[in-house]
Amino acid sequence: MAQGGIDEAEDNGALVLFSGGQDSATCLAWALARFSRVETVGFAYGQRHAVELDCRADLVRGLTALRPDWALGLGEAHTLDVGVIGALSDTALTREREIELGEGGLPNTFVPGRNLIFVVLAAALAYRRGLKHIVAGMCETDYSGYPDCRDDTLKALQVAINLGMDRRFVLHTPLMWRDKAATWRLAQELGGVDLVKLIREHSHTCYLGERGQWHEWGYGCGTCPACRLRADGWTRYAAASSTGEPAA
Ligand code: ZN
Repeated sequence: MAQGGIDEAEDNGALVLFSGGQDSATCLAWALARFSRVETVGFAYGQRHAVELDCRADLVRGLTALRPDWALGLGEAHTLDVGVIGALSDTALTREREIELGEGGLPNTFVPGRNLIFVVLAAALAYRRGLKHIVAGMCETDYSGYPDCRDDTLKALQVAINLGMDRRFVLHTPLMWRDKAATWRLAQELGGVDLVKLIREHSHTCYLGERGQWHEWGYGCGTCPACRLRADGWTRYAAASSTGEPAA
């Protein structure tokens, strides 16, 4: 196991923050298409939709079946227990409560510090694993107003982790300027309609953890903000792309 040394051979290694959602599944495909060695990390933080973590195995199986060359590059899958985030926060993602707008216009699904902690922990893991690149699905274009998804926040984090760990990590956010329809298009570019189908069926988005009800855009309650965002993106993607029409 590498202990923080990033030699030339490992310069092409990446760690993907992989929750099991649409965005991170697309990021995983993006990374597999670019880097020779790709590992993943997911975080268990007491989220109501912890079912998303269970979706990862099916997504990985599907990705490797889809592209044997991607299978070669796929390395370890890590899960970190950060239950302290759930214990600290009082939000609709970590407690049984209605989703609503809070003070300052931020929804109460915002978990303060969550993504900041995720990136720092991912960097600590990447340090140990000798991986230079960190890939995360944060998006500023079509999001819920979370300040820890902003480009400036992530750029500042890259500087902070590089200073604080004396490394040269590169933090990639391929979805930063893509809306949800563009994220479906990116999946199609990366792996064709088969990848779109895989992500549609096996990634999880719904904040409430609902996977009992099928919609043309995937499983979910259909009414929470995350489902609505995903449904809207799918509708726009499908309307714009004949190959994106529900099929198979
Ligand atoms: Zn939902």
